[in-house]
Amino acid sequence: MHLTERINRIQISPTSAVIAEAEKLKARGVDIADFGPGEPDFPTPDHIKKAAIRAIEQNYTKYTATGGIMPLREAICEWHKRELGSHYEPKECVVNVGGKHSIFNVVSVLVQQGDEVIIPAPYWVSYPDIVKYAGGTPVYVESRPEDEFSVTAAVIEKAITPRTRLVILSSPNNPTGGVIPPDEYERILAACKKHNVWLMGDECYSHFTYDPHKPFSIASHAGSKAHVVIIGSMSKTFAMTGWRIGYTLAPEALVQATVKLQSQSTSNPTSIAQHAALEAMRGPMDTVPVMLAEYAKRRKRIVEGLRAIPGVTCEWPGGAFYAFPNVAAHLANGNSGQALAKDTGELARMLLDQARVAVVPGDAFGAPGYLRLSYATSIERIDEGLRRLDRFFSRAEAAA
Ligand code: PLP
Repeated sequence: MHLTERINRIQISPTSAVIAEAEKLKARGVDIADFGPGEPDFPTPDHIKKAAIRAIEQNYTKYTATGGIMPLREAICEWHKRELGSHYEPKECVVNVGGKHSIFNVVSVLVQQGDEVIIPAPYWVSYPDIVKYAGGTPVYVESRPEDEFSVTAAVIEKAITPRTRLVILSSPNNPTGGVIPPDEYERILAACKKHNVWLMGDECYSHFTYDPHKPFSIASHAGSKAHVVIIGSMSKTFAMTGWRIGYTLAPEALVQATVKLQSQSTSNPTSIAQHAALEAMRGPMDTVPVMLAEYAKRRKRIVEGLRAIPGVTCEWPGGAFYAFPNVAAHLANGNSGQALAKDTGELARMLLDQARVAVVPGDAFGAPGYLRLSYATSIERIDEGLRRLDRFFSRAEAAA
């Protein structure tokens, strides 16, 4: 079939591919210890679900304004101000069909052929493909385990060229859990301002940070507005992945450009989901600390468990709900004696086939030698998965 050069520039999300494979096995009745999905295992809070039911009953089932209903845009600005210290007005806010859509829209209106976009690696899988689809070139810079996977301003500034249009940061980061400390984030902003480059702050995991880190937005910094685009999402904070509501906060002209694009593509995000999101923004936030406390327990369990496995090292993630162990010792050119696999793609396949454990290969995130394990799953399943991983890697060590 003849398809456009544009669509052939990108690939299907590699995380979706792993999840689909694990789902197939589960459907056949195979017991998988599943560390694949990047979504909360908690249900959407009741008060939010009830708001959606009320919205249906009250016939909020028609088109809305393309950029989202005004009460929701107001509520997002108020929530962001209260929780993260920013100062946006509704005209600087647009509601999108999930945070991924927000990023897609912003990149589409800012980036074109010949533009460079700086992306710290390890990166969330969708950033490079969204940039390539827009015609831009991703430029990868390193975030290192010895810096707890926080990228530095020095590394970013070194990568800026006259073609750089945008820097994309995710903090807390998917897949590493790395958190950029506020002072470093401010130095990155200063570099972006100096070189007149946009800074995108992806805050999808903003409220899942572990001591000593705290939720932080670069938009709280005075004088940030002209160079900053904030991406937010209901997906993780409120366990609302399926509702597909995200938002963009940015200067009005940029927001209006994305609304124009949205008016010719998705139109408004689902009206019912918008009413649910309105309740998320205005209602009680008590489910968030409950989820965070549970994630904190699981984080301890999984990181300690992974560190006890031969040939595996693992940093403490500062936020989000992913462990990101290094398994390079078990790969070709590793130092465990006998390589189990040539790369993490092959290793992930072996883990699924032989150990019945689903993980995402680090290669998908620009991090060869690493695996991503989501701990948005119960302690019991974490323990079971760790037992299987320990058996798998210990047997390999013994055979070496
Ligand atoms: N940004 C990051 C770093 C993510 O991990 C995700 C989802 O996994 C998203 C954005 C998009 O989330 P959603 O489109 O569900 O809002």
